Amino acid sequence: CLCRAYSSFRFEDLQIQVTDKPRPKPEPKNLTFGAEFSDHMLEIDWSEKDGWGFPIIKPLAPFIMHPACKVFHYAPELFEGIKAYRCVDGTIRIFRPMENMSRMAATAARACLPDFDQGELLKCIKKLVSLDHEWVPHSEQCSLYIRPAAIGTEPTLGITMSNMAKIFVITGPVGAYYPTGLKPISLLADPSFVRAWPGGSGMYKLGSNYAPTIAIQRYALKNNNCQQVLWLYGEDHQMTEVGTMNLFVYWINEDGEEELLTPTLDSGLVLPGITRKSLLQITREWNEFKVSETEISMARFIKALNEGRVREVFGSGTACVVAPVNRILYKGQDLHIGTGSDQKSLAQKLYDTLTDIHYFRTPHKWMETL
Ligand code: PMP
Repeated sequence: CLCRAYSSFRFEDLQIQVTDKPRPKPEPKNLTFGAEFSDHMLEIDWSEKDGWGFPIIKPLAPFIMHPACKVFHYAPELFEGIKAYRCVDGTIRIFRPMENMSRMAATAARACLPDFDQGELLKCIKKLVSLDHEWVPHSEQCSLYIRPAAIGTEPTLGITMSNMAKIFVITGPVGAYYPTGLKPISLLADPSFVRAWPGGSGMYKLGSNYAPTIAIQRYALKNNNCQQVLWLYGEDHQMTEVGTMNLFVYWINEDGEEELLTPTLDSGLVLPGITRKSLLQITREWNEFKVSETEISMARFIKALNEGRVREVFGSGTACVVAPVNRILYKGQDLHIGTGSDQKSLAQKLYDTLTDIHYFRTPHKWMETL
């Protein structure tokens, strides 16, 4: 077991310094992703010697850090992505935040970063959001993105567990992903690039999983005119993930059954997405078609495509909810896929179902008040 027990910081010790220079909030229509930040941040330091310090909420400010800190050299860093919504009843709610807390704790264990009490961190995050509540956009298309992160801060160059660490949380308003309706994307599927492998760390949300993907993403766009990368793995070119999204294939399988398929988490090649989990729960509840978590190879997919059995392919993630795929470039050949742009597509239906939950047009227990 990679887990170690650490006593946690506590919400009741939270200290709050309120800014005396609140900044103007941007117009929802001008928002993009990750460029605007709310007035306050949460910060909690840990050392092996003293354990966790008191959590503090303070005005958003740069860190001053020693250049030898391990995070700058060997990248002990993890992050999460959570959204808070201003719901139709005027109440601010967060989507399934304990799922993110538990994924964060699992990633911390993998990165030798300290464990913490997930419920206590969530209470501190809720306080941060309620202090900056005016930063949650007044719009049924926008949301407040919450970015928790943890880093190893010990200022020594040995490649060992960091005996100092910091959790911090910043938030910021983000705009509509689809201002004019779902928009299909194209994918480059090139087996010479591999994102994750058995025994590796692909199922954790470590920053170090993402840095090496950026050049490939740029190559897909610049040299191949594809917007995202379809990550393949193994001799049989298993389809694993779409950029930073989980993959779904909606098709008629070899047994003639209507099926929604997503790659299994068992292989360790895939991030356990919270949108993925939610879409699986929703479609299993609908009970309208078979829902499976299993491997799918390119050969199996192309056979189905040639036989006219593939209905839709889409990605899922916190940023976009769903992203329909209309083209995959594989071995120099364009594979065209029926798009999710049609009003009755499964991607559209799932997008509507989940966004109705986010804004509480459909009340749901997945939405947590502050
Ligand atoms: N896969 C990867 C590699 C990701 O970075 C993300 C985004 N966190 C996802 C899938 C989707 O996960 P979630 O639904 O929790 O956003």
